Amino acid sequence: MIDLIYLCIPMVKNIQHQHSQIWFGTDLSEKLNDILKSDFSNCKKIIITDETVFDLWIENLISSTEELHDAEIIQLSAGEDQKTIEICYQVWESLSDYKIGRKDLIINFGGGVITDMGGFIASTFKRGLNFINIPTTLLSQVDASVGGKTGVDLGPFKNQIGVFANPKHVFIDNKYLTTLNEIELKSGFAEMLKHGLIANKKHWDNLTQINEITVASVSPFIYDSVQIKHQIVELDPTEKNGRKSLNFGHTVGHAFEGFLLQAGSLAPHGFAVAWGMVIEAELSDQLPTASVHKIKTEIKNRYSICPISKSSIPELLDLMKNDKKNENENINFTLLSQIGESIINQNVESEKLSQVLNDYLA
Ligand code: NAD
Ligand code: MG
Repeated sequence: MIDLIYLCIPMVKNIQHQHSQIWFGTDLSEKLNDILKSDFSNCKKIIITDETVFDLWIENLISSTEELHDAEIIQLSAGEDQKTIEICYQVWESLSDYKIGRKDLIINFGGGVITDMGGFIASTFKRGLNFINIPTTLLSQVDASVGGKTGVDLGPFKNQIGVFANPKHVFIDNKYLTTLNEIELKSGFAEMLKHGLIANKKHWDNLTQINEITVASVSPFIYDSVQIKHQIVELDPTEKNGRKSLNFGHTVGHAFEGFLLQAGSLAPHGFAVAWGMVIEAELSDQLPTASVHKIKTEIKNRYSICPISKSSIPELLDLMKNDKKNENENINFTLLSQIGESIINQNVESEKLSQVLNDYLA
């Protein structure tokens, strides 16, 4: 395990986001315990987690947080293929068995699958329980646990069922990152790159100067990434306008992810987004050629090749036609005008889309 002193963010930082408090630091158990004691002392606590996080971190969480000593734990299998309504049904039944009421508290302890699905479970059970997110992957820390989107997949269609609901608190504690493998770190790093590309060139420049993606090299930039997402979501919480900028890389990325999910060969979300960003940079007519080249090079150097063949283009196009952002059956893209600036509601001719996919896929 990496030395926590080396990682240490000295002060607990905080962002007030809509109705959530987002806390940043290294080892936030004292802060968590204080908040549970002051705001949630008389309610039952249920922790929803997955098997991997349970094995690695549950003992640490419970033993360092006195207020959680009596918490009930619901442990799910790990992976995107678990992010389904069927699993929600099982968890809702468990909550009923535990006699969980409206005043009780759900704690989502895991990656984006757990924070997305746990947030949805909490916000729909008995018309909505309070919940707290403790994200344990880089991806869930910089993206999934913040911003109020919760939900589950519907077959190969990503996040089709869900609600906007904000956690009361998010604890972004970089100690959890120390057990992530390189692939999971890279997956989260892709969403950080996206934050730079759509809104802040300085952030992109900082990130692209990192040679090796490690907990120590990315930790100083987690706060900046969350800050960018927070500022975008604050202005448009329910994605009517500006929030669509966060979808850069995701129209194509979700199609890749859904295709691979259906084929039974899961790709980490951030890898699908990274491949999607290459395609969508190529589709960005206003983006200078040198910037397209820079984005392609940065991503190609860090991420493996997309394992989908050209012969799957018709299926990929079908998946994109079902994207949630579409209007009047047109595929709706967020593209770039330059590094650090995005443009929403862009249509792309299907011939051009097929051509770019054809050039990119093996
Ligand atoms: P994940 O939850 O599946 O986690 C990835 C893997 O890491 C899992 O196997 C998990 O068990 C393991 N893991 C978790 N914490 C760990 C730790 N500390 N040490 C070692 N292993 C650990 O997936 P993810 O990549 O965190 O998130 C992807 C999901 O997030 C997707 O479903 C995506 O759609 C969603 N997402 C949502 C939003 C949003 O705004 N709501 C934004 C981005 C992504
Ligand atoms: Mg994403």
